[in-house]
Amino acid sequence: MSFTKLHRKITSMQTYQNIKITEIEIFKLNIPLKEPFIISLGTITNANNIIVRIHTDSGIYGVGECCPYVYIVGETQESEFEIAQKIALLLKNKNPLQIEDRLTEINRVVKFNPTIRSAFDMALYDILAKHAQLPLYALLGGTNDRKIFTDMTVSLQEPDLMAAQALRFKNQGFRSIKVKLGTNKKDDVARVCAIREAVGNEIPLRIDANQGWDCITAIATLKALEVFDIEHCEEPVPRWNNVDLARVRSQSPIPIMADESLFDEHDAFRLASIGACDYFNIKLSKSGGINNALKIIAIAEAAGLKSQVGCMSESRLALTALAHLVMARKNIVHFDMDSALMLSEDPIIGGIAYLKDGEIRLPEKIGLGADISEEYLNKMKKIII
Ligand SMILES: [Mg+2]
Repeated sequence: MSFTKLHRKITSMQTYQNIKITEIEIFKLNIPLKEPFIISLGTITNANNIIVRIHTDSGIYGVGECCPYVYIVGETQESEFEIAQKIALLLKNKNPLQIEDRLTEINRVVKFNPTIRSAFDMALYDILAKHAQLPLYALLGGTNDRKIFTDMTVSLQEPDLMAAQALRFKNQGFRSIKVKLGTNKKDDVARVCAIREAVGNEIPLRIDANQGWDCITAIATLKALEVFDIEHCEEPVPRWNNVDLARVRSQSPIPIMADESLFDEHDAFRLASIGACDYFNIKLSKSGGINNALKIIAIAEAAGLKSQVGCMSESRLALTALAHLVMARKNIVHFDMDSALMLSEDPIIGGIAYLKDGEIRLPEKIGLGADISEEYLNKMKKIII
């Protein structure tokens, strides 16, 4: 080895061992939705998200984004803004590349709050991949070779309004439509019936009850919906009721997907152990980030289950992190990555592109390959730790 090469290698080792977090910026990112998004748990009109930027003494910085749905995770932008400052204090002056140690420290202090933890996890992975000079998917051992299409989600409304929205999405070219349900059997069957009539029999439909049914209603409704050729049903019963989820699955003609009942790897292990579902729906905002998402996928593989990835109201920034995970793990076979299409503004630079028919393309860039406009951030409330 030449002296120059050896010197470069030693310098890079030293950087690896000595790199330190110097400063963390926390921003409140507020973007109005184009139209209200309605699910059985509540209505969302704005994406009130958090952005974190972790700076290091090597000149590399990492970005992360999260979106708290209080109905699902119990976090709000305000609560996250507070907790983010505590997490930032824990991270300061530490090595950002030692992700296992950093996340263990965070998890010791912040027991729940998976959504805000996911923003830090994302920023740390961005730094690690930038340091390795690899796209994140490549760092995780993946290949950017998959043609993936997001579905598009129809809000929970009256049947005729839902049918019109579904038809609009079909005409825009989306390859599959997700339908929000979860009130009662009569109304939910009427909704799916109206949508099928409007969009025809070819386009795949998937449904999401968002915990809105009890066990009896879920089984009866899913049996009544069998004729409409449904791909799968997310979260039919309340999230805590894993026993009834298994009962529903055992009697349902439609495959069951765990969403709100699946936050982290412990939930994944329990649900798989009792045969409660056919699919996992992984969201970084529930898992606490990429690190735990990889553990959930490993459990899915071990149990012979497949996964979907989903989102809350994140911008293209967090969805880019999710796309890296998709390219890294082929266990993920369904893609519900439509949230950025619902936002009225797009302040993200780089990152995933939405192509024709809801196709998502991940660019070949180092790290996450996505950032947020400085000009946009300057308008946001911010704190520096
Ligand atoms: Mg869901």
